[in-house]
Amino acid sequence: MSRPLSRALPHPVARPMRSAEELAAAGLVAPERVPELARVAARYAVSVTPAVAALIAQADDPIGLQYLPDAAELATRPDELDDPTADEPFTPVTGVVHRYPDRALLKPLLACPVYCRFCFRREAVGPDGGVLTEPELEAALAWFARTTGLREAILTGGDPLMLSPRRLARILGRLAALPHIETLRIHTRVPVADPDRVTEALVAALALDKPLYLCVHANHAREFSDAAGAALRRLHAAGAVLLGQSVLLAGVNDGEAALEGLFRAMLRHRVKPYYLHQLDPAPGTARFRVDPARGLALLRALRGRVSGLAQPAYVVELPHGGGKRPVEWAGQPGAVV
Ligand code: SF4
Repeated sequence: MSRPLSRALPHPVARPMRSAEELAAAGLVAPERVPELARVAARYAVSVTPAVAALIAQADDPIGLQYLPDAAELATRPDELDDPTADEPFTPVTGVVHRYPDRALLKPLLACPVYCRFCFRREAVGPDGGVLTEPELEAALAWFARTTGLREAILTGGDPLMLSPRRLARILGRLAALPHIETLRIHTRVPVADPDRVTEALVAALALDKPLYLCVHANHAREFSDAAGAALRRLHAAGAVLLGQSVLLAGVNDGEAALEGLFRAMLRHRVKPYYLHQLDPAPGTARFRVDPARGLALLRALRGRVSGLAQPAYVVELPHGGGKRPVEWAGQPGAVV
């Protein structure tokens, strides 16, 4: 049964809501749920931006499910892992993850505009941010400079577009100046979750002499609001190549129509669907799980009647740092992607 909101829409809010009390005051959750949701918020960060709040019609609709806390998050299953993608063993210096020979991640901060209830880094991300200190950032950039086998630098986090434009420009500029770095990539939720952050100054920070791929995370067509569309237009006009990254999530997009709608919405907004991820087994995320066999069936159903442009690779992250692999190949020997 759906959970109706205790407010009439629209009900604009001026700033991100970060507590159960604030969500209840905005009518996004029922007041009687505040004590249990406060326990969830004490364990995993909560943030719902005004842009996201405006998209939530029901607490358990495809937008509400992604962002509103739920008491089910307090139950951790035995197969759920604090660090499901095993970043830690692949961290040569603070803030860097080096899992594949030709590319490495830089995590300059661990804050996000919103905190997704299925996040694979939910044990690490939060508003208190985990911003790299100056010495840590310098050590990370020095590591990129001396690791000459790299071809791609990937900024992730947290959400790198939460950095000030000045700091972001400085980091990107230093990485782009390295002769062996050919391409840069940023993973972000900002264009859909907080599109007003895509200011002229932020767009200017992304102007580089080297190709910049911007991986936009979105899981449902309704996340592509008018404001998100305008933000994506600005980013595209600035020269960034826009790619889409999604997670297959029960109740959010685990249906043919929902997936088709999502991928078509991406294309309409100049975003090429790139990866559809099988959910990583992060703690308290069981309610979002979809059987991989069902995921394969959904993608097969789209083949043939949906443009190849609208078909991402369906991938799973193998446990214990085994890397990313097409779901079809899971359990078989083969190259990671
Ligand atoms: S934006 Fe990404 S890193 Fe941040 S909470 Fe969502 S999934 Fe996690």
